[in-house]
Amino acid sequence: MSVPTHLGGHLPAEHRLSPQRQYRELPMIGRALSDYPVKDLWETDFARLPAPLARQRRRARAFAERFIAPVADELDLAAHLPPGQCHPIAMDVLREAGRQGWLSYFLPRPLGSMPWRTLPYPPIWQCSLIVEEFSRACGGLMLLLSAHHLGAMPLLLAGNVGQMLRHLVPVYRSCERGEPHLVAFAITEPGAGSDAEDGHGAALYSPGVVARPTSGGWLLNGRKCYISGGDLAKSATVFAALQGEGMESWTCFYVDCTAPGFKVARNELKMGMRASGAAELEFTDLFVPHNRIVGGLRRGWAINRATLNASRIPVAAMAVGFARAATEAALEFARRYTLGGKALIHYQDVQLHLATMVAETRAMRSLVWQEARSAWQPRQLNASLCKFHATDRAQRVCEMAMDLLADHGGLHEQRVEKIFRDVRLTRIFEGTNQINRLSMMEDWQVQLLDADQPMGV
Ligand SMILES: Cc1cc2nc3c(=O)[nH]c(=O)nc-3n(C[C@H](O)[C@H](O)[C@H](O)COP(=O)(O)OP(=O)(O)OC[C@H]3O[C@@H](n4cnc5c(N)ncnc54)[C@H](O)[C@@H]3O)c2cc1C
Repeated sequence: MSVPTHLGGHLPAEHRLSPQRQYRELPMIGRALSDYPVKDLWETDFARLPAPLARQRRRARAFAERFIAPVADELDLAAHLPPGQCHPIAMDVLREAGRQGWLSYFLPRPLGSMPWRTLPYPPIWQCSLIVEEFSRACGGLMLLLSAHHLGAMPLLLAGNVGQMLRHLVPVYRSCERGEPHLVAFAITEPGAGSDAEDGHGAALYSPGVVARPTSGGWLLNGRKCYISGGDLAKSATVFAALQGEGMESWTCFYVDCTAPGFKVARNELKMGMRASGAAELEFTDLFVPHNRIVGGLRRGWAINRATLNASRIPVAAMAVGFARAATEAALEFARRYTLGGKALIHYQDVQLHLATMVAETRAMRSLVWQEARSAWQPRQLNASLCKFHATDRAQRVCEMAMDLLADHGGLHEQRVEKIFRDVRLTRIFEGTNQINRLSMMEDWQVQLLDADQPMGV
């Protein structure tokens, strides 16, 4: 079958009215200003990044394509294992990810694996680039790898160098040796999801996990739920109130998950991101020594909110990865699948559909990069906006892919079905999108209420 020279409804590139042909015939200056190389879109963006970040992005893509994508389906369909057991394939990915530095890149070498050349750029930017590549390949494995950084974030943000050297560096070293030491982040409680993410709710909430003083430290009691990677983690940053006090006493404890009194009560069977466990953790007189308090007593609420501000931009990057995977799958389908004797892509209404999907995906990426490139001190307003907008739009793009693939969209082998289940969860975790909208307004309220403040948007 001969390859068509142009898409249905368009002129061939060599037609005398084709702009590309005409640009080439312009005088030199006009040609220099109009003619452009036709490149892959991902590669075009590559040239727009600082070179060290661009290299990390390419490395992340290579890792995702070689180690994550090939096992994504198998892990998605695999039965959930009992808490504490890791699927051997997921363990292989974790080991390799650790060896390649994907579990330790928030500190520069030799403490972690961040290349020195990326040091001038916010780590959140680097993280966002990596997360997009991983989520494009598999949402579940991406979450397994990313939740670890969320768990370690309080240790970084508390800014205690001694604690970083004592706790985080050994975690990083272990990962780099190929012995994964995952860290989980535990704020959600059976009675508090949004209340752990929103100031107004927190002010009314009676904390469920409570720390009681004892000789040399604290005893933790209570339960946390939906903790990503909590089933496999060797350590966790657990947020608890001090006995007899409210949420304002929230304190971050760096917990040893192998200590007596720590139990993984169960792993949820959830709709998507199935390669990552969502664990319920139970603490019964779990002893935590004083030197494992992260950032000081009663500093937990601030550390939690700062952690969420830092992590919501990478969550938006997850959304870009899903939208991109869905768009790539839809493009692939439209090029391959024939209807009425021609490939779907030759129908102009299909082209309109695909054009919107590509534009949405690239607009999301622009938003993420815009926020990530200045995310040394990520602002709540910007991070929340970025999270809810990108994840909402990404789900829309995935729905468009389902529309295009029609009955094929529901088949597991087409990938879009899995992406559709995975992307939905990004609108729930790190605060539901409703909570993120409120969180944006919360941060803005001082300016909104001051009539003398200019209201630039
Ligand atoms: C895949 C996955 C991974 C997760 N990983 C982690 C993790 O690693 N660590 C962790 O601690 N947690 C984790 N979570 C928990 C997650 O952060 C919570 O599920 C989320 O914050 C929502 O809380 P909730 O489910 O308790 O909903 P609720 O707080 O019970 O909310 C119920 C509904 O009420 C709405 N609502 C609540 N308050 C308001 C309000 N004031 N105004 C308007 N609407 C409101 C919400 O938007 C929602 O629609 C994870 C969740 C999922 C699904």
